[in-house]
Amino acid sequence: MKIPLARPDITKKERQAVLEVLKTPHLSLGPKLKEFEEKIAKFAGVKYAVGVNSGTNALHLIIRSLGIKDGDEVITTPFSFIASSNCILFERAKSVFVDIEEKTLNIDPNKIEKAITKKTKAILAVDVFGYPVNWDKFKKIAKKHKLYLIEDSAEALGSEYKNKKCGSFGDVAIFAFYPNKQITTGEGGMILTNNKRVADLCRSMANQGRKIKNGRWLEHIQLGYNYRMDEMSASLGIAQLSRINKILKKREKVAKLYSESLKGISDIQTPYTTSGVKVSWFVYVIRLSQGYSKKDRDRIIKNLTKKGIQCGTYFTPIHLQPFYRKMFGYKKGDFTVTESISERTIGLPFYNNLTKKQIDYVVNNLRDVLKKVN
Ligand SMILES: *Cc1c(COP(=O)(O)O)cnc(C)c1O
Repeated sequence: MKIPLARPDITKKERQAVLEVLKTPHLSLGPKLKEFEEKIAKFAGVKYAVGVNSGTNALHLIIRSLGIKDGDEVITTPFSFIASSNCILFERAKSVFVDIEEKTLNIDPNKIEKAITKKTKAILAVDVFGYPVNWDKFKKIAKKHKLYLIEDSAEALGSEYKNKKCGSFGDVAIFAFYPNKQITTGEGGMILTNNKRVADLCRSMANQGRKIKNGRWLEHIQLGYNYRMDEMSASLGIAQLSRINKILKKREKVAKLYSESLKGISDIQTPYTTSGVKVSWFVYVIRLSQGYSKKDRDRIIKNLTKKGIQCGTYFTPIHLQPFYRKMFGYKKGDFTVTESISERTIGLPFYNNLTKKQIDYVVNNLRDVLKKVN
C-alpha cells in the first residue's frame, strides 16, 4: 500500500468552477476574487480580506503595511514553516525568536516579555498545526507594550479559540491555500483585517502600487508588487470554501481515528487538544517520547517509507536552517524546547479522504517499526 503524506481533495464541481472561468474573458482582476474575498472575510468574521498569490506574499504585505523596516524587531516562533520568519527579513527587520510551549507547540506567552526591546514593533504568532495561540494572553501583552499583533493562521483556517475563528485575532492575519492546507487554490493566500487603511494599502501593493479605485492602469502611487490572485484560483477557492464544514468534519474524523488507534502504543504522544479550542487539523503530528533521538526518529521514518508510508518531519527549527545559522550565527541550544520536540516529531499521512483501512495500515506498521527500533 502506498500512502502519501498529503493529497488535495478536489471535487468535480470544483474542477468545473475553474473551467467556467476559462470560458470568460476575465482571467485576472475579475469578479471571482472579489467574491472569494468577501466570503473569506465573512467566514473569519473580519471586515476586510485581500486575496494574493501566496501566504508568504500575504505576510510580506502585512509587514510592509505596518511600516516594519530596517532595524525593527518582530517577535516570532522558531517552530514554524520558514515563511513566517522570512517575511520579516524581506524588509530587513529582525526576527526575534521566542521558544515554544511543550504542549501546544505555540510561542510560550510567559517568555515573550523578556524578549521585548525598544526596537520591537510586533508579535507575529503562528497557530501551529492549526492549534490556536492563547489569544487572550497575546492580546494583553501586545496592548501593554503597544505592539502590533500579526496572526499567521496559514495552518488554522476553521480553527477556533473561545468560539471565534482564527484569522480574526491579530491586527492583521493571513490564511494560505497551498494544496496541503484545509482549502486550496493551488497557490494562494489571504490577508484579513478590520483595519481599512491596512487592507487598502495591501490591496494596492499587491497590484503594482496602483490606486485601488479609479486609478489609471499605468499610474503607480507607491512601491508595489504583482502578488495578485488569478480568477481560476479564486473560483476554486470559492467552491472549496462552500463545503468547508464538510471538509473540517472529514479532517476531524481522520484525526480522531488516528488518536483512538494510537492509544495503545506507548512511547508516542498524540496531538494535544483541550476544551475551549477547536482545531481544524492541518496535519497530524505525533511525538516520540523523550528517550528517542533524532536518529531513532529518522530510522523510524525510513522504515515507514519502505512500507509505502510517507511521513513529514515538521518542523526543522527555523533558527537551525542553514541560511539562518550562516546569517545570524544561531546554533543548537538556542531554543531548547523547540529543538527537543522537533527532533522527535513524525507527521503521519493526513488528508480529507484517508480511509480507516489506510489509517490501520499506518498504525500497525508504526507499532511494528517501534518494536524494531527499541
Ligand atoms: C503554508 C504556510 C505559509 C504560507 O505558505 P505559502 O506556501 O506561501 O502559501 C505561511 N506560514 C505558515 C505557518 C504556513 O504553514
